[in-house]
Amino acid sequence: MHDPRCRHEFVHMSSYIRPTTLQEAVEALAETRGVLLSGGTDFFPARVDRPIRETVIDISGVREIKGISIERERIAIGGRTTWSEIMASPLARGFDGLKAAAREVGSIQIQNFGTVAGNLCNASPAADGVPPLLTLDAEVELASATGARTLPLGEFILGNRKTARRAEEILTRVTVPRRLENAASSFLKLGARRYLVISIVMVAVTLLTDDRNRVREARVAVGSCSAKARRLTALEEAMAGEKAEAGIGKLVAAAHIEALSPIDDVRGTAAYRRDASITLIGRALEACVGAA
Ligand SMILES: Cc1cc2nc3c(=O)[nH]c(=O)nc-3n(C[C@H](O)[C@H](O)[C@H](O)COP(=O)(O)OP(=O)(O)OC[C@H]3O[C@@H](n4cnc5c(N)ncnc54)[C@H](O)[C@@H]3O)c2cc1C
Repeated sequence: MHDPRCRHEFVHMSSYIRPTTLQEAVEALAETRGVLLSGGTDFFPARVDRPIRETVIDISGVREIKGISIERERIAIGGRTTWSEIMASPLARGFDGLKAAAREVGSIQIQNFGTVAGNLCNASPAADGVPPLLTLDAEVELASATGARTLPLGEFILGNRKTARRAEEILTRVTVPRRLENAASSFLKLGARRYLVISIVMVAVTLLTDDRNRVREARVAVGSCSAKARRLTALEEAMAGEKAEAGIGKLVAAAHIEALSPIDDVRGTAAYRRDASITLIGRALEACVGAA
């Protein structure tokens, strides 16, 4: 005969849950305050030297937060969408920079498993997905058992491995306003080698022009040069009204990168990172006007 105490014991000791709906997932998270596992490409490397004691909530079976949808005002990317899926989707040219970043995330195997939400929630200063999404004015949607909220990506990522995510929240979607979907965009990453590399500097640019081919709005973000990737608003303002043509990269000056606070580490010195970021921004701007 079934002994209810056995079930209680099982539930108490359970350390792995695999929900298949978002509702189940947020309820499991509220109940257990466990840790979320998506593609696992950041999760497992962070735990190689210690046993996993937390309750693991594996959301890899939650299909409703996967895929890309075009809505009236915004384009929504489900949090469980992988980098390979982003590369394969027919997104407008405003997403060329994000696609270029997707191609740079680790290797093909990593891109097949690694998800957008995992990249943003892990909040590495070198996360390739962050600069292009910052230049697309991305917002993140967070769901919990008690409701949902939306935050601009720039406010969601607080610092190195720090986000505004509450323990009971799941990042369900990243959305981008459609007014940027036809902007020119680019992404460049500098690493110590060509493939499977953590960046020394990375740069994303989104450029909206008017009918006289002048810059209406510029958005420039740099990663790996501060605790979190940053938009360079001084440069963005300086570029407004400039001609969107070859030579645009020359507008970048040392004063424009003052918001950055690069560190010296094994991958490069702070001075090198500053220097490289100016060069890379220039090239990313030229790429946006078809001159690189
Ligand atoms: C060999 C290798 C190379 C790599 N190279 C790069 C690189 O070049 N560039 C780069 O940016 N990254 C790189 N990464 C890191 C990683 O692949 C990416 O950050 C990836 O996008 C993480 O996604 P994931 O689904 O695997 O996240 P997971 O590992 O499953 O989770 C990462 C973190 O996010 C949390 N999380 C996951 N999903 C959600 C959600 N929906 N809501 C709330 N929290 C969530 C998890 O709890 C965990 O803390 C590399 C990793 C490896 C192993």
